[in-house]
Amino acid sequence: MQTNQNFFVPEYIQEFKCIGKDCIDSCCVGWDIKIDKSTFNKYKNSANKEIKSISQKSLVKDDLKSDISYGKLVKENNCCPFLTNEKLCNAFKLMGQESLSIGCSTYPREITIFNKIGFISGSLSCPEIARLCLSKRDFNIKTLKKKNLPNIFNSHNVFSHQAKKKLSDKKLRFIEEVFSKINDHSTIFETLKQTIISYDKINRSKSYINNFLKNENEKIKKKLLHTDTNILATFCFSKLVGSNKSGNKNSTGLASSKGELRDSRFKKICKISAFKSGYLFSLKTNFVREFTYIYNTKFQKFRKENEFIFKNYFINEFLKNIDSIMNSKNSLNNFVRSIIFFITLTDFLLVCQLFEDNKKLTINSYVEVLSAVLKDINHSPKATHDLINLFRKLDNNNLSNRLVALY
Ligand code: SF4
Repeated sequence: MQTNQNFFVPEYIQEFKCIGKDCIDSCCVGWDIKIDKSTFNKYKNSANKEIKSISQKSLVKDDLKSDISYGKLVKENNCCPFLTNEKLCNAFKLMGQESLSIGCSTYPREITIFNKIGFISGSLSCPEIARLCLSKRDFNIKTLKKKNLPNIFNSHNVFSHQAKKKLSDKKLRFIEEVFSKINDHSTIFETLKQTIISYDKINRSKSYINNFLKNENEKIKKKLLHTDTNILATFCFSKLVGSNKSGNKNSTGLASSKGELRDSRFKKICKISAFKSGYLFSLKTNFVREFTYIYNTKFQKFRKENEFIFKNYFINEFLKNIDSIMNSKNSLNNFVRSIIFFITLTDFLLVCQLFEDNKKLTINSYVEVLSAVLKDINHSPKATHDLINLFRKLDNNNLSNRLVALY
């Protein structure tokens, strides 16, 4: 790739720097770390005894057809075996930055290159990049050259995905229009609606987006809030019910177990949300009634005051998924559905925490929960696919109805 290659880059990306041991999570926790073929061989045959011994034990072959995911480091105590007690990477410490695999060198950067231009975004499962992305009140996209992005291209191993097809002038204009309008739209609802309408125009498809009527919207929204709440409560809390019937209780009032210390951020948040909402101890109908009341009174106010969080999330994910959105007609619909699903799940967990009288929702708490949700659920394509399909059934496979959930 040329150093004068141009990229569309959200401004916040230039501020990103991994904060390592100060991170509230770590990308080395919870996932099997994928290792490319060249790094796999380098670690297995390393002259460094520690690296070689860890590799002999924990580095296994995974997908032999893929250069990037050729091997994986199997977790120990839910962590990458190279992670030290000080939350640093042993491979980095003992062999230097260029020894890292392609995946480790690239995360949480997401880079896609078309014929004319590249796109850079962040993987918001990283809480630091999520904080930078979601806290900006004005989200701006710049065009920058590779040589002006030293914090992104900070290793020879940073990976760029090559788009499948060329980007036509018409599609490029559509993308630029999405960028230029982002600060004009007052709500995420309007942003998504206008994006779908423009997309249908460039694809010459008949737009199925309904003319939204205020009274109708309120009815659809009420119905979906009710059904979504039931589904999400079952999804997030059902596994906690059994664990609550026996054993000692911890600060959340839920049973504690040895594995708890190694729980993912998402699982910890589920436990806190279940406890604060009293879900495990109340009748479902009472829970849904109280949830609806808190959603409409406390949560909607937060949403209205901080619409930029949702718009920033959308535009980051739009950049991240740009190849599939531009190259397959149905993928914008699927993309919009996934955006709405992850917002709905995050909203659900946070509303549960607002059952506590004095709890105030902050931008930071929204960022932390959305990032945790993305790290656990979005990382599993099957779980994401199944859940989105379930939501599709609830809205009768009508994206307009689903959009109204954000109205
Ligand atoms: S999750 Fe982000 S900030 Fe945390 S260790 Fe990984 S890259 Fe660094």
